[in-house]
Amino acid sequence: MTPDDRVYAYSAVLMGSPILLKLFEHNETLASNVFRLIKLQENKLTVNRQQSEVMSVNHAAGDHAVAVSKPVFDLISRAKAVSVLENSSFNFTIGPLVKRWKIGFSGNSVPAATDLQALLKITDPHDVILDEGSQSVFLHKAGMEIDLGAIAKGYIADVVRDFLREQRVAQALINLGGNVQTLGAGAEGAWAIGLKKPFSEPESLIGVINVTNKSVVTSGIYERYFELNGQRYHHILDPKTGYPLDNELLSVTIISDDSIDGDIYTTLLYGMGVEKSLRYLQNFPHIEAVFVTKDQQIIFSSQRQFTFTPLDPDYHITG
Ligand code: FAD
Ligand code: MG
Ligand code: MG
Repeated sequence: MTPDDRVYAYSAVLMGSPILLKLFEHNETLASNVFRLIKLQENKLTVNRQQSEVMSVNHAAGDHAVAVSKPVFDLISRAKAVSVLENSSFNFTIGPLVKRWKIGFSGNSVPAATDLQALLKITDPHDVILDEGSQSVFLHKAGMEIDLGAIAKGYIADVVRDFLREQRVAQALINLGGNVQTLGAGAEGAWAIGLKKPFSEPESLIGVINVTNKSVVTSGIYERYFELNGQRYHHILDPKTGYPLDNELLSVTIISDDSIDGDIYTTLLYGMGVEKSLRYLQNFPHIEAVFVTKDQQIIFSSQRQFTFTPLDPDYHITG
């Protein structure tokens, strides 16, 4: 038996994303329980349907506070804390802009500059009033919309990991469309997580990140985007301008214990760019990053929690 013969893969499509679960046993019941759990979380957090806990907050914008469940309140509190950091490029009140651009969805278009200016006025995270006692959330201005797209998959990946641990699963991998969380080791000693080559058709890899018991989250500009008149518009928006963030980066990958950190930091650091991020991460030794730049460099912040196997001679490891 080769190592991979022991791995059973289960897949589904949830949150508009391909979901992959790897187990070391054939267990359909466990797999469907995991997918049910993800669906449950999606139903609370989605902004792509009219009904969810988050949408009930959005529907009441400018009008009244809405009480939410404790986990949703905690997730919103975390999202606000990151959003109000000085010069943060992470902003969970970016919803009106995301809905206007529709990047990654049908009907996308480039908004008029005046539209963006108007929408930017209702994307101030300070305008989200949180009340711990009643666990309620109030969006102060009419039209405001919370969007947890940059944090929720990470949160859900951790929920899945915790559930699998409770089920006494020692080795597993969950991939929520670019958001990977692992339990224990893989078939050959560590889980091998591919780092995709940007814009390559057919799909190929720049390299492989090997981890045990870690989360690996990648956020890039080559997964969700559209092109118009030779210009590419991707889905990570600059909260200051309302346009897609533009810098030297193709992608940021974060290796960390918790996938929620990976999801937050991919978005936050994408906006900071390489140099600032490297300085910033010196204060967060438990968070490690792999940056891939438009001039085909691969840059590591540090490399304590993973090993990297390069696979593409066009990309050079720097630093
Ligand atoms: P990240 O870089 O982590 O996040 C980017 C996403 O965050 C953007 O897509 C946008 O939603 C938001 N965002 C953009 N700019 C910023 C910013 N500056 N700060 C903070 N957030 C920002 N996709 C579908 O196609 N159909 C669905 O029905 C669907 N349902 C979903 C339900 C849930 C609960 C979740 C979590 C996601 C769902 N998605 C769906 C995917 C979603 O639209 C995003 O594409 C996805 O969350 C992006 O994740 P990422 O890790 O690739 O990117
Ligand atoms: Mg994400
Ligand atoms: Mg993110």
